[in-house]
Amino acid sequence: MVSSPYDWHARLAERAAERRTARLWRQRHCHAPEAALDFAGNDYLGLARDPRLAEAMAVGARRYGAGARASHLVSGHLAVHETLEARLAELVDRPRALLFSTGYMANLGTLQALCDRHTLLYQDRLNHASLLDGAALAGARSRRFHHRDRADLERLLARATQDMPRLVATDGVFSMDGDIADIAGLAETARRHGAWLMVDDAHGLGVLGEAGDGCVGRAHGVETVPVLIGTLGKALGTEGAFVAGSHELIEHLIQFARPYVYTTAQSPGLAAATLAALDILATEPERRQRLHTRIARFRHEAGRLGLPLRESDTPIQPLMLGDSARAMAWAKRLAEQGLAVGAIREPTVPSGQARLRITLSSAHSDDDLDALLDALSACQAKEGAVIRETAP
Ligand code: PMP
Repeated sequence: MVSSPYDWHARLAERAAERRTARLWRQRHCHAPEAALDFAGNDYLGLARDPRLAEAMAVGARRYGAGARASHLVSGHLAVHETLEARLAELVDRPRALLFSTGYMANLGTLQALCDRHTLLYQDRLNHASLLDGAALAGARSRRFHHRDRADLERLLARATQDMPRLVATDGVFSMDGDIADIAGLAETARRHGAWLMVDDAHGLGVLGEAGDGCVGRAHGVETVPVLIGTLGKALGTEGAFVAGSHELIEHLIQFARPYVYTTAQSPGLAAATLAALDILATEPERRQRLHTRIARFRHEAGRLGLPLRESDTPIQPLMLGDSARAMAWAKRLAEQGLAVGAIREPTVPSGQARLRITLSSAHSDDDLDALLDALSACQAKEGAVIRETAP
């Protein structure tokens, strides 16, 4: 007997209706970067549109081809990848680094290669989705500790009686909140419980640290943070990611990380562009300084306007609006004035914590900041007083 076919379209329509009813429908818009002032992206140093990167990309493509043609373990691993890995390892003061195509894949691959169902994996509650998904791919169960709460991590670690491998994973700079993990504290707790510490410094790299080496880099060595993730699609202005650590870690990932093994190597033009970005990072420290000046000025002025910003010293400045509809209304009003700002809602952030995720860049001018502050102030006047935030 043939069973009646499953009605896939009906199921999809049901899911879509649920999401629309919850007012959480996600929409893509076609952005014209030159048409709006961008306070939504992660191009913290203004490198994505730097002509030197575009030129390096073109030269790399002409020399090696537009694509790498194969995975790293087959024939896609090129000299430009090798050079880039060495430069990235040097930046964060680690013996070695391994390139991945995206940060999402770096987190998936690292957790899948290091963990299995016998691993005790501890994650900050606000960790990026890719760290949570990596745990699922590994078949490991994540125990989530309260955000930046070392005492809670301690409690969870102490509770585990089994003698199993332990890994603590955290974002370095939290992507939706902009605050920074207590790396020294987590490292000390992890060490006492025989756990490894993994830090995803996607948003710290290029922005923090005396050489733009991030919140871990040179400040916390490979013994303190054995597994370090950096991404290239944010402050470095290109795309891709890397894992940095010991020779043993990198060899292990080459052997076992499926999102590394079974995918085409990064395009050589991108690798060449990232090398150009690293040169600029080293030779133009004023970009970082300008960024931090912008952050301080924005916070000062927004504070005077009474805007409910969360505490953050990084380019990610969350303006807490609470309600999803309110966040959407503010973002729409800003867009009408030519300002692109991300409205972030659940499930990306917890329910009731919808926000504008304002991101600053060294490429913003004082006039750009003025335009943003004026528009936010007008939103506040038109959309009504914003809620005062309760502690997360
Ligand atoms: N980790 C964090 C903390 C992130 O914010 C992101 C991207 N939003 C990623 C990893 C994924 O990086 P990619 O965009 O390169 O996949």
